Amino acid sequence: MNFLSQFFKIFKNLLKTPICDNCLGRNCGNLLSGMTNKQRGEIIRKYFAFVIDSEEEMDFDKSNFYGFKFRNIKLKINDSKKCSVCDDFFKKNINKIIDSSVKKLKNIEFSTFLVGSIPTNEMKLNEEKLWENFGVNNVELIKAEINREVGKGIENITNKEFDSKNPDVILLINLKRNEIQTQIKSIFIKSGYKKLVRGIPQTRWICLECNGKGCLRCKGVGKMYKTSVHEIIGKPICKYSNGKDHVFHGSGREDIDARCLDYRPFVIEILKPLKRNIDLKKLEKQINKSSKVKVNGLKFTDKDYVRKIKQATNDKTYSADVIFTNNINNKFLPFIKKLNKSIINQKTPTRVKHRRADLLRKRGVKSISYKILGKNKLRIKIKGQAGLYIKELINGDNGRTKPSIQELLNNNVEKIILDVIKIHKVK
Ligand SMILES: [Zn+2]
Ligand SMILES: [Zn+2]
Repeated sequence: MNFLSQFFKIFKNLLKTPICDNCLGRNCGNLLSGMTNKQRGEIIRKYFAFVIDSEEEMDFDKSNFYGFKFRNIKLKINDSKKCSVCDDFFKKNINKIIDSSVKKLKNIEFSTFLVGSIPTNEMKLNEEKLWENFGVNNVELIKAEINREVGKGIENITNKEFDSKNPDVILLINLKRNEIQTQIKSIFIKSGYKKLVRGIPQTRWICLECNGKGCLRCKGVGKMYKTSVHEIIGKPICKYSNGKDHVFHGSGREDIDARCLDYRPFVIEILKPLKRNIDLKKLEKQINKSSKVKVNGLKFTDKDYVRKIKQATNDKTYSADVIFTNNINNKFLPFIKKLNKSIINQKTPTRVKHRRADLLRKRGVKSISYKILGKNKLRIKIKGQAGLYIKELINGDNGRTKPSIQELLNNNVEKIILDVIKIHKVK
């Protein structure tokens, strides 16, 4: 059968039951552009009105031609009937959906959006029935038409842009449950931080005793530490952007008791922000009022950058003030130089063993130097390959790291005061 007779047959059949212009037009929705399915449907309906008025034998539902003025045939049509496919969704309900959607978006700041929808079971079944009878050539899905038409409606009212790739907000129209949900894209902000004090962790650490509810151990605050780099940076941004919460993504981390005196890259992610146009300069100033943490310019970024900084392997230079149990034996001191450009064998440190697999790690010392601060005190400067455990290199971790400074000096390490002083750029 050629296209023309096939086409004619399809639409002749469709008109046997009440059907609206949108549902009619959707059956050739993939033919021609620059018009809506409603317009396609109108054209087809008019075309068949000509056919009918020419007194061609045809079986059709009269209500489909309500309002037409036929010249040659006498048809008594009292009323139009509800569309047997969409139940008049496009005629009656779609504007309500558009209005509710706009209301939903009212308190959200966004410039681009996307619409997704879940049609009712009836709509889907009716749609599938049509395909069974007439095939799916040139057909558009009802879902696609709902998304587009609601999207156009929202565009007209809000002047915001429909964006299918990376929208600020996604509206999910669930016709099954008769509800509209919004998904707001996170805001990602990048910078580097310095941690100028010891004793605060990088990320918020929920109290292990009460799981955040508040208990005696945490004095009711629900956290192991009062504050963190994460909170000092994230809280003001989250408050300003009216977000639901914030997540910290750091490029590695220093120990709680170590300072970080070079800017360590991080991304702060604000979840479900109601405000996206935020003054980063102002927030930077606000954060930098902290005596504990400083940031180095805030910039907008995206999710991909999080992966990038997570995978980055930067060499680092540390300065460690080390106190030994006994006076240092000057005879052994030069042995430290042996570590220069050497490879260190490190089994997973005892302090992190509970959360990491027990592996043997080999990492290089790129350079090492020391300065005598006292009879039992040294300042050691170490440039280490990314991933080198510094504390363990110094204290040997009960023989789990070899060689170590404790072993070389034959002197027990009492205390290590550690600073990250340089995070080297990856070349
Ligand atoms: Zn319809
Ligand atoms: Zn607690």
